Amino acid sequence: MTNEHSDCIFCKIAAGEIPSDKVYENEFVYAFNDIVPKTPTHVLLIPKKHIASLHAATDEDRELLAELLRAATKIAEITGVDQSGYRVLTNIGADGRQTVHHLHFHIHGGRKLGVDI
Ligand code: AMP
Ligand code: ZN
Repeated sequence: MTNEHSDCIFCKIAAGEIPSDKVYENEFVYAFNDIVPKTPTHVLLIPKKHIASLHAATDEDRELLAELLRAATKIAEITGVDQSGYRVLTNIGADGRQTVHHLHFHIHGGRKLGVDI
C-alpha cells in the first residue's frame, strides 16, 4: 500500500498485515467487524488510503467519500440490517472520542439503538 502510515493499525488491517474479520472490500474501501462490538452488528468501514479523520479529507477525496457512503449501504445489506435500520457514524478528534486516527465509519444495527448507541 503506497501511502500506508507505518504506525497506523487500520492501514495495517487494510493491507492484510493485521488480521481482521472482513465484511466487505473493494478497490477503495475495506470493512471489518469491530473487535469490541457495541451492537449486534458493529462494522468498521475504512478507506484503504490513509486519511486521519473525516475532517482531514480534502476535495481530492470527494469520490472516495462517496464510495464510502455507498459501501455503508452495501454493508447494511450484507449484514441484514437494511430493512430494520441502522446508524452510520464517525468520531472526529478528542471531543468526538476518536481513538484510531484513520478515518472510519461505524455501522451499528441489529437492535433498537439508543441515543448513545
Ligand atoms: P473510534 O473510537 O471511533 O476511534 O473507534 C475505534 C474502534 O476501533 C473501536 O470501536 C475499537 O473497538 C475498534 N478497534 C480497534 N482496534 C481494532 C482491531 N484490531 N480490529 C477491530 N476493531 C478494532
Ligand atoms: Zn491509516
